[in-house]
Amino acid sequence: MSNIRNFCIIAHIDHGKSTLADRFLELTGTVEAREMKEQLLDTMDLERERGITIKLQPVRMIYHPQILNTNPSAGGQTLNNFQSQNSNNQTDELKIKNLKLKIDSEYILNLIDTPGHVDFSYEVSRSLAAVEGAILLVDATQGVQAQTLANLYQALDQNLTIIPVLNKIDLPNSDVDKCKKELVELLGFKDDEILAVSAKTGEGVIEVLNKVVEKVPAPSGNQDALTQALVFDSVYDNYRGVVAYVRVVNGKIAKNDKIKLLTTGAADLALEVGTFSPKFQPKDELLVGEIGYIVTGFRNVDECKVGDTVTVENSKIENRKSKIEAKPLTGYRKVVPMVFASIYTADGEVNKLRDALGKLKLNDASLSYEPESSGAFGFGFKCGFLGLLHMEIVKERIEREYGLSLVVTTPRVNYIEEIKNSKSEFQEPWCKVEVILPQSYLGSVMELFDNNRGIYKEMRYLSDRVILNYECPLAQIIVNFYDKLKSTTQGYASMNYELIDYRHEDLVKMDVLVAGEKIDVLEQVVHKTEVMTKAHNIVKKLKELIPRQWFDISIQAAIGGTILARENIKAFKKDVTGYLYGGDVSRKKKLWAKQARGKKKMKKLGKVDIPTDVFINLLKQ
Ligand code: GDP
Ligand code: MG
Repeated sequence: MSNIRNFCIIAHIDHGKSTLADRFLELTGTVEAREMKEQLLDTMDLERERGITIKLQPVRMIYHPQILNTNPSAGGQTLNNFQSQNSNNQTDELKIKNLKLKIDSEYILNLIDTPGHVDFSYEVSRSLAAVEGAILLVDATQGVQAQTLANLYQALDQNLTIIPVLNKIDLPNSDVDKCKKELVELLGFKDDEILAVSAKTGEGVIEVLNKVVEKVPAPSGNQDALTQALVFDSVYDNYRGVVAYVRVVNGKIAKNDKIKLLTTGAADLALEVGTFSPKFQPKDELLVGEIGYIVTGFRNVDECKVGDTVTVENSKIENRKSKIEAKPLTGYRKVVPMVFASIYTADGEVNKLRDALGKLKLNDASLSYEPESSGAFGFGFKCGFLGLLHMEIVKERIEREYGLSLVVTTPRVNYIEEIKNSKSEFQEPWCKVEVILPQSYLGSVMELFDNNRGIYKEMRYLSDRVILNYECPLAQIIVNFYDKLKSTTQGYASMNYELIDYRHEDLVKMDVLVAGEKIDVLEQVVHKTEVMTKAHNIVKKLKELIPRQWFDISIQAAIGGTILARENIKAFKKDVTGYLYGGDVSRKKKLWAKQARGKKKMKKLGKVDIPTDVFINLLKQ
């Protein structure tokens, strides 16, 4: 156990986490050269297409300083050579002296690569709970960004050892000194503990691994104690059932052990246990301090939840006079969804959708859902997401991985509605927003906040940039705000937000009527000051998005009985096949077939056919 190091890499999005992980995999020979590809740990198709990390991904590496060091031809420098070659260099000599590596030992490095986008912060928080240390990676061309801070604070909360590393020093516009200064002044790191690397060229990467071995504490725990393993992730395997990703905190788990989950009480056999290479690598047992997986055989996804504790029903312990039970470990903070949208299938396959949501939730613990029915669409699920990107990813994953075609309604925040004197009153969720931006854009960003009902809180300086804090209604932040911020600052600002409380606000419910019928899935809660703009906006957009039908359609926005805005969609003049005079039946059939194909993506909203992507398009400006 003293040779195990469990750590993760945290950073703002695109600062190079997955690329640095690639270099680690190469240096440790974990992945053979011919199997190597960029951002290898981004294993999902969706991740590779979009170039972002969505899921945490564990991998186990064997790091053997001696092997590296005696094989300079493979790019590794021997520590001994390194020492003599550089002995005339003061700083390198210092580094060598400070190294407390055991050169002859073999180290097991368990790395968890994490996403950087704020919508996937729950993946980060769970990764942090499974490790003792974190590499804080900062792009030296960008400096500290909003998610750098947010992720670092989370890591400090968990008492992790932090190793600060600057990345992308191969780029001509990187500014190592300035970034070091930011880390020192803002976060209190010492100048000489900050490493500088290029994850692209590999420069300095060995030093990072050495630092991990030296600084990150080995796991503590008791091999002989009752088994406790924290479930930090899971996947559903169609053939084998639920596969739990665990960190063994005490005791051990062997293949064919009787396992039990302490919260749900579910019991089964550990059909297989193993580690991540990053593929599943079966082993005989998982020991205390290790990170690995258990194939549980559970078919019911509710039996094995992320955050639960796995224990082993040990016969020796069972036989003791007083039966001792392992205690559940503290799990994770509860996920608080930021936005909600309802999901329906385009073809009414609600049971398949339920099954898909259950299995996806295993692999995406931040997703929440509950059954719901809509007058317009019938049965579906109200789902909670951490943001719009998260919503988009969930939709795409269900469509790809479960072959369903979905209708997702316009996302909204969670308003608390109270009926007082037979009138609806609303409380609105507010969030704390932190933006890091160059000083020159300060005026325009403050104006952007003012236009979004923001309340100024605080401002701090970070070399030539500013950290700006506002409070703002969540509804204003989740849609379009980030895009506006980016365009206002020419891409130089980064942002993080966090839910803080619910506030009584002057809000009203606005109905939308299509062809005279109130459509529940289009109902909105809006601030009094924005009622007229929003009313006109929505009817105008719906007019663009709803195709012509065989009859005139009116689109109205109303509060109570008062119509605020109205548009009309004119009916088709004639049968579209009309112009193909009589004769050619095959051409007509072709046209009808084409229409029918188009229809597949339509859904009935009252009397009217609407395209299933109308809700998403409503959001776009
Ligand atoms: P992540 O979002 O933190 O995982 O970042 P990625 O590893 O996906 O990297 C984001 C982008 O930065 C990719 O295009 C990488 O090729 C690039 N990148 C990462 N590290 C370096 C580096 O050291 N130098 C240069 N020039 N590019 C890098
Ligand atoms: Mg990544």
